[in-house]
Amino acid sequence: MEGQTNNDFSARLGQAMNERGLRQADLVRMAASDGVKLGKSQLSQYLSGKTEPRKATLEFLATALGVSAEWLSDGASDAPAPHVLSGATDAPTPPEMRQRETPLASSGNNTKEKESAMPRRQFKKSSKLDNVLYDIRGPVLDEAYRMEDQGIHVLKLNIGNPAPFGFRTPDEVVKDMQDQLTECEGYSNSRGLFTARKAIMQYDQLKGIPNVDVEDIYTGNGASELIQLAMNAFMNEGDEILVPSPDYPLWTACATLAGGTAVHYICDEKANWYPDIEDIRSKVTPRTKGIVVINPNNPTGALYPREVLQQIVDVARENQLVIFADEIYDRLVMDGKQHVSIASLAPDLFCITFNGLSKSHMVAGYRIGWMSLSGNKRIAKDLIDGINMLSNMRLCSNVPAQSIVQTCLGGIQRSQGLLVPGGRIYEQREYVYERLSNMDGVTVTKPEAAFYIFPRLDPDKFHITDDDQFALDLLKDEHVLITAGKGFNWEKPGYFRIVYLPRKHTLHEAMDKLEDFLSYYRQ
Ligand code: PLP
Repeated sequence: MEGQTNNDFSARLGQAMNERGLRQADLVRMAASDGVKLGKSQLSQYLSGKTEPRKATLEFLATALGVSAEWLSDGASDAPAPHVLSGATDAPTPPEMRQRETPLASSGNNTKEKESAMPRRQFKKSSKLDNVLYDIRGPVLDEAYRMEDQGIHVLKLNIGNPAPFGFRTPDEVVKDMQDQLTECEGYSNSRGLFTARKAIMQYDQLKGIPNVDVEDIYTGNGASELIQLAMNAFMNEGDEILVPSPDYPLWTACATLAGGTAVHYICDEKANWYPDIEDIRSKVTPRTKGIVVINPNNPTGALYPREVLQQIVDVARENQLVIFADEIYDRLVMDGKQHVSIASLAPDLFCITFNGLSKSHMVAGYRIGWMSLSGNKRIAKDLIDGINMLSNMRLCSNVPAQSIVQTCLGGIQRSQGLLVPGGRIYEQREYVYERLSNMDGVTVTKPEAAFYIFPRLDPDKFHITDDDQFALDLLKDEHVLITAGKGFNWEKPGYFRIVYLPRKHTLHEAMDKLEDFLSYYRQ
């Protein structure tokens, strides 16, 4: 900070904003909620050095940025530079500094008091998160929220959350939860209610998943909680797990957070996005312990045939790997195809199959998922102890949501009507696929399941090198929000995921806008 003068006000302001991770829109919002008049154009003028704020605004900015008004105004401070600016972000505030904290400048004479900058302890995220990525709800979405705050309508094609798009939970399900609510006040067994697990066990039996007992089933607050739990129980530092690319990024994130390494195997666009078996083989090392298979797949919408699954099982068998099967979309399959559970092909291996009601019953907000341990459980006794320990530690999953599992898994599956000609998901897929296929420079594989499509932009035409920039530019120009391929641990730039849950008229508008954007956009 030494050597800065009044002329550097804008630099100090910008620097403090950077350090705090605050953008102009954030400060404008904070000012509004504090009753301080501060517009975006005003703030831009401060940042560009055109004007400086009046005392009241300066004091607001100083407080919001965790620095002293005096430092912000003229760079003066007889205290060490504020933490926010020093980079010593994790250090607690020493007591002697705390004592020197004084109110903002209020000198009664002309001599400005040299007040100490107010040192503020800053909290950084854990370094465990350094290599963790979850862009589906990342910075581009933050920008979309900012735009919405300014009254801009954004067409969101980014999150696989059925309810906001008018997919309603069947009345019977809501009624059953309502009726059971008073019985769901206490913690349940940490694995879950017996009736829920029994229904899941029977579902697993119908899918041919071998050797699953009620005790082998764990309910969770969505499959997400159990993915994290399983990775924590399974991975040691240095362990490797094979994860598809593109993937549903929670898998890579959880494996990484658990201290392991996600090694990505390629799903091949030229082969309907099926896993490339040779690539899987080539990525196995002595440290490889498991393989994740996401089928049906998010983000590609691919449904793997039995032969492909059989080949994955062969590799797992040869290398003694645990199979983690994410099958949350198994009841959202189209074109008369049948979903095959990979665990049904591997009775001699240890498998954990993940599933839930978020997608099949459009109750993502209720938070109910499960995992089933199957096959050769003898080889995983110790791992199962670890899973039990972690399951007990979180006491249990949301009990009201467990109470509807039996209702949902039994009887007629209403979602089936959405997946055939005339049904919403089917028709929306047809529409989006058709539109994308007819756009110049776009290639796309027709998805057979779930509600995602993963198009590719011709590199010779669009020259996309930065996926995030593409997503941001599309958002800013056309107010359409998608998730860039990079968000799915997909290395090649120029891919993105569209969620085709919105109704056709919304998809129509979004496709028009995308087409218009692609007619001029180049990187
Ligand atoms: N697995 C996949 C492949 C998903 O796409 C999702 C959610 O989008 C999940 C798991 C998490 O689902 P849940 O709502 O059960 O946590």
